[in-house]
Amino acid sequence: MFNKILIANRGEIACRVIATCRRLGVATVAVYSDADRNARHVRLADEAIHIGPAAAAESYLRAEVILDAAQRTGAQAIHPGYGFLSENADFARACEAAGIIFIGPPASAIDAMGDKSAAKALMQAAGVPLTPGYHGEQQEPAFLRAQADAIGYPVLIKASAGGGGKGMRKVEASADFDAALLSCQREAQAAFGNAQVLVEKYIERPRHIEIQVFGDSHGNVVHLFERDCSVQRRHQKVLEEAPAPGMTAERRAAMGKAATDAARAVGYVGAGTVEFIASPSGEFWFMEMNTRLQVEHPVTELITGTDLVEWQLRVAAGQPLPKTQEQLQIHGHAIEARLYAEDADRGFLPSTGTLRHLRLPASSTNVRVDAGVEQGDAITPYYDPMIAKLIVWDVDRERALQRMQQALAQCQVVGVTTNAAFLRRLVMTGSFRHANLDTALIEREGEALDVRHLAGSDNDWALAAVLAVHGNTHPGNDASPWDIADSWRLTGPAARCVTLEHLGRHRPLQVRQCADGWQVQCDDACINVIGRLTGDYYSLQLGEQLLRGQFVHEGDALHVFGSGNPQRFTLHDPVAEADTHADHGGSLLAPMPGRVVTLLVEPGSSVTRGTPLLVMEAMKMEHTLQAPADGTVHGFRAKAGDQVGDGAVLVDFEAD
Ligand code: ADP
Repeated sequence: MFNKILIANRGEIACRVIATCRRLGVATVAVYSDADRNARHVRLADEAIHIGPAAAAESYLRAEVILDAAQRTGAQAIHPGYGFLSENADFARACEAAGIIFIGPPASAIDAMGDKSAAKALMQAAGVPLTPGYHGEQQEPAFLRAQADAIGYPVLIKASAGGGGKGMRKVEASADFDAALLSCQREAQAAFGNAQVLVEKYIERPRHIEIQVFGDSHGNVVHLFERDCSVQRRHQKVLEEAPAPGMTAERRAAMGKAATDAARAVGYVGAGTVEFIASPSGEFWFMEMNTRLQVEHPVTELITGTDLVEWQLRVAAGQPLPKTQEQLQIHGHAIEARLYAEDADRGFLPSTGTLRHLRLPASSTNVRVDAGVEQGDAITPYYDPMIAKLIVWDVDRERALQRMQQALAQCQVVGVTTNAAFLRRLVMTGSFRHANLDTALIEREGEALDVRHLAGSDNDWALAAVLAVHGNTHPGNDASPWDIADSWRLTGPAARCVTLEHLGRHRPLQVRQCADGWQVQCDDACINVIGRLTGDYYSLQLGEQLLRGQFVHEGDALHVFGSGNPQRFTLHDPVAEADTHADHGGSLLAPMPGRVVTLLVEPGSSVTRGTPLLVMEAMKMEHTLQAPADGTVHGFRAKAGDQVGDGAVLVDFEAD
């Protein structure tokens, strides 16, 4: 075994490799860019070497700088993780030339599998089932179109050098072929510097099922069963699980054989994944082989009780595989979800920023969290915005699913927007719960996944109102609108009005403190909230429902975490707090500088609580000042069009 290795990667995979090295007593060297100076992988490693500016091309992709770092620190081997240099045959060769072991397959195997067309030719020779199609050298448009016509539409045009779902076009009819080919070639040339394409049958409602394989330098090859990665968005995996639901023993054996045949055909050593596309009836065809450890390898580890990074290190050190095929067994069911800093409700735009508050589920036998960040770290625009992988295990799929729902509810992230709530909705869709899996699951469940259907219940709003008004966790921060402590008191108990916004809906709410908690007026409903707040924790009874969890204020946003979806409310209308400024002699004050737009009642009017009295414009938005109680409007101190300052008396009001 090695004494010391260098990890040519960052984020969760670098941290995950370090964890195994620790356990095995192998010292680790991290490398880092300017953007990662204080990253978690740097903090965890025994040594760390700076390798350049933030851009990956100038740091994590610079083979010679990384090799130099390995030599300087005396690392005997390099673990490339996934992405970056992990499937770069030249890098594997450069390691060999420098006398450093590349923890991965031989360069020749990377080369053989690096090009989809060439790999298919090899696989055909090895008897591995292939999707009907053309993957030869001839690239004339008319020839390729004739191939597509012969295959039968729809077909898929794929860049031979493609990866990450890029450079693919589905073509429905012969008439569309030429245009799709051109655009695919252009994209392939731009993204991969190689315009070669292949054409294959488009499989309808396909499942993505992949087999984990492992080879050693003694000629042994085993497979560690399958993973189902059908739940994808734009050909990118979102959820992965093992074993694949509905897999029969015969089909598993057939796919395992095809995968190990594929590995043997290229003299494979180390961890690899053979990806298949499967039809609803269970037929399967080789798609490609990834010659590295996959993001989703933990689900395999959890059902087989193995540590695949340990296997990688042992095999790279020349040892035989730790287990034979017969010794490998499937135990239980595992599911992985990728927690990303992205806004699922706005086209999955990546979100960057500092993780001001970060709580992830506690690790246990049932829950594993592979994270590359801690609270206080930043998600930068330079790299993949993954925050963590949540991996759950239980004796069967149903229980694992339950674990995943809980684990996702326990993710508390403030500072960047995450896909946690989207993932939670996703694992709860009918299709996923019933294992009705195929690559179009997310599209098909679009309606159920639409966030607008999930605007909270009255209880959620009432809880948020109480936390907004009385959950004051930042007493020192004067700038925060949450910290206005004075309540409008006239007769009876203190009452506060707030207008909250949640998923595009605005609601005014009134919170009245009482002996055992609060009373919240939420439109026509009056909700009793019984219990108390302790620091940033709440434990409250709302009718039949006991709600417990944690909350975080961030500027004018309120994040509520509990046993359900994380919810974000915004204190929308500062003027709604006018009553908090409402003076103590029965006047309503302007809560901020602005312009009076219109007066809504005649002086002398009797009004009931909540009656709109005056509209103000401030910060380019209109805000309505309401009667804080039943009473009489004696007069206005400003007229439409007047500019008024913060705290100016606007209405002379007397409560009954
Ligand atoms: P990449 O290397 O870019 O990831 P793959 O060949 O692995 O490309 O394919 C990515 C995804 O595209 C698959 O997981 C599957 O969802 C879809 N796909 C690939 N080939 C086909 C096909 N022949 N028919 C239907 N969908 C396909």
